[in-house]
Amino acid sequence: MSEFAHNSQLDDNPQVDDDQLVELARQARELAYVPYSNFPVGAALLTKSGRVFTGANVENAVYPLGLCAERNAIFQAVAQGEQEFETIAVVTEPGVTPCGACRQVMQEFDNGSLRILVADAAGNVRTYTLSGLLPDAFGADDLPTTHSRDSGDSRI
Ligand SMILES: [Zn+2]
Repeated sequence: MSEFAHNSQLDDNPQVDDDQLVELARQARELAYVPYSNFPVGAALLTKSGRVFTGANVENAVYPLGLCAERNAIFQAVAQGEQEFETIAVVTEPGVTPCGACRQVMQEFDNGSLRILVADAAGNVRTYTLSGLLPDAFGADDLPTTHSRDSGDSRI
């Protein structure tokens, strides 16, 4: 994959390829806590620096408190100082795409090149871009500048 060639920040972590990232998501899916939906999801997020963060969906008896696998992985990465991502792999039984909430969270950190690998239990993998899954997305640029750190620029 040529898009990985520019990654020079690796030291002891060899770059994982798409197949490996899907496998890591598949392993993460085994750890899903889904007593209510019985719909386990696994995700594996590759950062531009070459680190991988995995996540599984975690449900709760208070249903809205559950968290998707994708956001679980992304929030872990951000909490570890990573905000630039290359690819996220998502594994479910039928191979469904990420929900709207997760797409919006991906948008927060997307630089326009985030790849989304969607895999099913049979091993079929489809590749998406975030702009394809969330066109015309709302983002930080849509907020008024008066509350930004560089509010000296009074565009309004
Ligand atoms: Zn989601």
